[in-house]
Amino acid sequence: MTRLLIIGPPGSGKGTQAVHLARHFGIPAVSTGDIFRSNVSRATELGTQAAQYLDGGDLVPDHLTNALVRDRLLENDVRRGFLLDGYPRTAVQAVELDNMLAASGLALNAVIELRAPDTELEQRMRKRAREQGRTDDTVDVFRRRLDLYRRETHEVVSVYAARGILVPVDGSGDPGEITAQAIAAVEKFLAAARA
Ligand code: ADP
Repeated sequence: MTRLLIIGPPGSGKGTQAVHLARHFGIPAVSTGDIFRSNVSRATELGTQAAQYLDGGDLVPDHLTNALVRDRLLENDVRRGFLLDGYPRTAVQAVELDNMLAASGLALNAVIELRAPDTELEQRMRKRAREQGRTDDTVDVFRRRLDLYRRETHEVVSVYAARGILVPVDGSGDPGEITAQAIAAVEKFLAAARA
């Protein structure tokens, strides 16, 4: 059973890599951004509450996000492991996740950090804006998301680095090569942790 996280700034290709890595490790990818977007498009109660935050590039309040993840991690498919994408994004969420897992005697195995230079992040966002039309893919909202990543989520990365479970991966360049490098880095890390 492998329990993984993927963390990276907006435009780092986190969602794309999450899908490939999850397939490789035979575990479900759980993306909080995707779950929020799906709720917004179906106009559920959660979607109605979350829409304003998504559109402004702000973080959805911790209590809503934590409840969403708590419910999702109680479903059957994640018993064999999971790859969380987009959560935790704040120090409070990171503590919550530890508590959720500890309640079942579980812990994270590894945290993949995707890194890429700002210029490349913005280029990818512009490409995605043309292809997918996400309401939060405008230059202003993107900069707000990047700023929030630095202010809030970077702290989460430090927590996992201090715990010795961070696996940094260079996220610039060809997506297929990044997947191959990420798989190799995670497998090496997991093998060393087991030894
Ligand atoms: P990106 O990494 O490109 O910003 P995501 O799909 O991960 O895209 O997230 C999109 C939006 O969903 C965020 O800007 C935020 O509004 C909301 N969101 C996703 N995950 C979280 C989270 N863990 N906490 C708060 N808000 C979140």
